[in-house]
Amino acid sequence: MANKPMVGQALSPANESETRRHVVAAALAGRKLDAFLVSFGPNLRYLSGFTGSNALLLVLPGQSILFTDPRYQIQAAQEVSCTVTIAKGPLEVDLVGAIARHRVKRVGYEPALMSCEAFRSLESRLPAKASLVAAGGSVEQMRMVKSPSEIERIRRSVLTNSRAFEQTVPGVRPGITEQDLAAELEYRMRRLGAEKPSFETIVAGGVRSALPHAQPTAARFQSGQLIVVDMGALEDGYCSDMTRMLYLGTPTAKVKRIYRAVLEAQLAGIDAVRAGTRTADVDAAARNVLKRYGLDRAFIHSTGHGLGLEIHEPPRLGKSDKGRLQAGMTITVEPGVYLEDYGGIRIEDTIVVTERGCEILTPTSRELRVI
Ligand code: ZN
Ligand code: ZN
Repeated sequence: MANKPMVGQALSPANESETRRHVVAAALAGRKLDAFLVSFGPNLRYLSGFTGSNALLLVLPGQSILFTDPRYQIQAAQEVSCTVTIAKGPLEVDLVGAIARHRVKRVGYEPALMSCEAFRSLESRLPAKASLVAAGGSVEQMRMVKSPSEIERIRRSVLTNSRAFEQTVPGVRPGITEQDLAAELEYRMRRLGAEKPSFETIVAGGVRSALPHAQPTAARFQSGQLIVVDMGALEDGYCSDMTRMLYLGTPTAKVKRIYRAVLEAQLAGIDAVRAGTRTADVDAAARNVLKRYGLDRAFIHSTGHGLGLEIHEPPRLGKSDKGRLQAGMTITVEPGVYLEDYGGIRIEDTIVVTERGCEILTPTSRELRVI
């Protein structure tokens, strides 16, 4: 279960982006495309290294062009190894100019990730012989399997996240609010090197812990409460994700039983992870444990998800998902039990799929933290 992936010669991020652009360019002809337009931020970063907020990337067979605005002139020169065009007005104007200049006819675009307005604006400016062709999903497929340098970045993000948790837990006591705890966790993670949380930190006490995506409120913790903490760091562009449970006071027999069920389910899920396994089978492994405890109806979400440049990205590990795991995928395993008017328990780790099993990146103990 703890086989370490081989860490090969890590490419520099710029080289890595270039290699990825070559893969996209080489696939153009087979997809009957003359060019591929990338507009979705994480895909654009993956293929270019550019971290700014306003850009388009056009991948052509022989070259790629990144279009951005003058605010990013210096940054683009530092981050990007392909041709950069600094647009004076709307990026589409320069993009369409390049499409005309290169006599591009079929431009693949990412339909799920472009607004109707952006699509119409672009379509209305295209040269007469050019057309937009829906061609999404391919970059997301590439992104599922992480390179050694990506895994290293996710590992660092996971460590920062876990350190922030360890530094913060000793300060938890009755009387502090959910918001206090969430703020402290986020402050700590930033002090430890994170750019920001990878999603809005979830902290919920008592009956509110039964809400899988609870927003922290001004509610004060009381003795006899379960507290769910679901947190992640974003570091060097990469996400981590972890859920741990705290208990204020002496846990009841019921809390202990549900905790044991969820922990066994999580371990069964992790045990099922290896290259070649169907994602649905990992979900089934966790779900079957909860069934034995009569708690499967209270497990109302999928067992896990991929994470990387985005906190939720393919693959999904749910009941009806069709995919198979591949070595180098980074995923979460996070079964949970949610009982209305009582509370909820979830345990979540970030792991890397390997040929023979997985490596668990999250170093934090999975014991229920009794305070
Ligand atoms: Zn989470
Ligand atoms: Zn998660």
